[in-house]
Amino acid sequence: MIVRLKPGSDPDAVQRELAQRGLWVRRFEGTSGVTLTIEPSSRRVSAEELRAIDGVLDVAAPRSPHPRLDAQPRELTLRGVVSQEPLLIAGPCAVESAEQVEAVAARVAAAGGQLLRGGAFKPRTSPYAFRGHGVRALGWLADAARKHQLACVTELMSEEDAAAVGEVADWIQIGCRNMQSYSLLAAAAKLGRPILLKRAMSASLEEWLLAGEHCLVHGAPQVVFCERGIRSFDPSTRNLFDISAIALLSQVYRQPVIADPSHAAGRRDLIPALSRAALAAGAAGLLLETHDTPGAALSDGPQALLPHEFASLTAELGWASRPIAPRAGERPAPAPRVLESLP
Ligand code: PEP
Ligand code: MN
Repeated sequence: MIVRLKPGSDPDAVQRELAQRGLWVRRFEGTSGVTLTIEPSSRRVSAEELRAIDGVLDVAAPRSPHPRLDAQPRELTLRGVVSQEPLLIAGPCAVESAEQVEAVAARVAAAGGQLLRGGAFKPRTSPYAFRGHGVRALGWLADAARKHQLACVTELMSEEDAAAVGEVADWIQIGCRNMQSYSLLAAAAKLGRPILLKRAMSASLEEWLLAGEHCLVHGAPQVVFCERGIRSFDPSTRNLFDISAIALLSQVYRQPVIADPSHAAGRRDLIPALSRAALAAGAAGLLLETHDTPGAALSDGPQALLPHEFASLTAELGWASRPIAPRAGERPAPAPRVLESLP
C-alpha cells in the first residue's frame, strides 16, 4: 500500500504513527516529497484506517487478485442456511459398502456431525489400489446420510461424473490432486453447491486462493478451503499440517476453512492434538476419517479413528447430537456482496 502525505504534513510524525500501529513502513524521498509504503507482510490494514491518520492525503492499494473470494460470506452454509460452527464432517475414506457407510453414518450422527463424508471415486497413487465403487457408492452414501439426517460431501474426480455427484452431494469435494484442474473446478462450480477445496500438496496459499476464485467465477455459491497437509522434506508424518495457513486464511483473509488432520497426520494417534490445534488456529470445522475396522479399510486405514476414539474426541471438542435441518433462530445464508467492476 502506498501512503501519500498532505503537503506541509510532518512525514516523521506519520511514519511514527504507522509504526506504532504495528505496520512495517518504508520511506521514499522524491522530488515531489515523501511517500511511505506499507509492506504486504506487515499486518493487514484497511485504506480507511490509513486515511483517517492525521497528515495522510491518500492511499493507493493494488487491486485484489481474488475479488470474489474477498466478498464471499465467511459463514458456512449447508442447504442454504448458515450452519452452526464448528462443523463436523466425518466418515470413512472410501464408501466400501452400503452396510459400512450406514454404520459409520450412525456414529457420525450420534457424535453431532453435520456432514457425512466418503469417497465413491478415489484418487489413488497406485492404479492397482482400490479406486472406489463409483456411482453405486454414491447411492449408498446418500441413503446412509438421509437415514441419519446428515448432509453429505463426496469427491468429484472427473467432469463426466459431475451430474451423478451433483444428484447426491450437498458439498462437492475437490481433492488435493485436482486443485488446479481448472475445467473440473468449473464443472463442480456449475453444480451450484459449496465446494470443499482441498489444498494441493505443493500449492502456495495464493495458488489455492486463486483456485477458489476459479470456482466462484464459474458460479459456485461458496468455496470452503480444506487444509490437509502439504509435502515436506520429512516423512515422519504423511504430510506437514500447515497451521499457519489455517490462521492466515481464517483470520487475515477471512475465508471459511476446514481442517483435515487425518490426511495431514496419516496416523490416528496424532489426530486429537492436531484437531485441537486447528480449532485454536481458527478452523471453522474438522474433517475426520473414521472406520469401524480400520485394519480392514480399503484405503487410509492407519489414519482412521476407531469408533471409541472418534466418540471421545468429538465429545471432548463439544459436538452434541443435533439435527442439521434448519431450526427456528438459524439465519438464512447471507447473499454474497455484489461487486461492481470485476475483472
Ligand atoms: C480424501 O478426502 O479421502 C482424499 C483423498 O483427500 P486428499 O485429496 O486430501 O488426499
Ligand atoms: Mn482418505
